[in-house]
Amino acid sequence: MISNGARVIAGGTDLLLEIQHGIQQPVDSLVDVCNIPELNVLEVRGEDIFIGAAVPLSEIISSNLVNHHGQALVEACNLIGGPQVRDTATLGGNVAHALPATDGTVALLALAAQAEAVGPNGERILDLQELFLGPRRSTIGENQELLVGFYFPKRSTGQASAFRRVMLPQGVALPILNIAVWMYRRKNKIMDARIALGTSGPNWFRTKGAEEIMPGEELSSALIDRVYEAMLEELLFRTSPYRSATDYRSHIAKVLLQEVLEAAWRRSEI
Ligand SMILES: Cc1cc2nc3c(=O)[nH]c(=O)nc-3n(C[C@H](O)[C@H](O)[C@H](O)COP(=O)(O)OP(=O)(O)OC[C@H]3O[C@@H](n4cnc5c(N)ncnc54)[C@H](O)[C@@H]3O)c2cc1C
Repeated sequence: MISNGARVIAGGTDLLLEIQHGIQQPVDSLVDVCNIPELNVLEVRGEDIFIGAAVPLSEIISSNLVNHHGQALVEACNLIGGPQVRDTATLGGNVAHALPATDGTVALLALAAQAEAVGPNGERILDLQELFLGPRRSTIGENQELLVGFYFPKRSTGQASAFRRVMLPQGVALPILNIAVWMYRRKNKIMDARIALGTSGPNWFRTKGAEEIMPGEELSSALIDRVYEAMLEELLFRTSPYRSATDYRSHIAKVLLQEVLEAAWRRSEI
């Protein structure tokens, strides 16, 4: 938000609907950030991939660079809305909207992405997790900052990522549960791993306890069971009236966890 009377808009796929439905206050002015050149860059920057906040999701999906270095992000963006939504919606809007279920954000978390923001107090780089204060509340919103873009590390040999989600059959917006995984594997051992979940509670979540179990292990159903048990200790799956009950989310988390871990394990084979 720039001031009480003005609001940043990118694709408008969240904001306009929410103003229409009375979830957000009407505003005097909408400030379109889609034509700011720096927010439209997608490129390698040193050891990182940089994606500008206003790059449309469809451009991320068709980028060879992101397909190679951030498969989880491509898989996530490819499931957001339909082709028309993906042509206008942006990654910056997905993150700034600050809902715990947003697909692009969960993938970025697993990729250890950092956000670049600019505002009245200058420019800063922050971990994605620091940005989130709760549903529809973010530090960039509170500081009246603009998201410039996202950095995530380039993929090295033996590294890969994957994203899966479950959606209501008639669902058009947010998923019941989504999981993204990043894995670093050397021969038959996991060296390092990150697991991020959405809709597991009021926040996006990295399951650090579950992640710590994996280094030094080979992927097996016994390991997946242990990771899942550790995950359940950390997470509070909630019942939401529109999407799902706690029990179902806990059950489906095991299925999705197995799928993402197996996909990342296969992809990270040298
Ligand atoms: C039919 C439909 C289906 C959808 N399906 C999904 C889905 O499956 N998964 C999912 O995650 N989302 C889904 N969405 C939600 C939405 O499309 C995404 O969250 C999208 O990425 C939002 O981007 P946008 O550019 O349209 O954001 P906008 O609507 O323009 O903005 C959203 C919020 O972010 C702020 N903002 C935007 N850009 C910036 C910036 N650069 N800096 C600071 N603040 C900024 C705005 O002020 C606003 O508060 C769906 C939406 C629709 C309409």
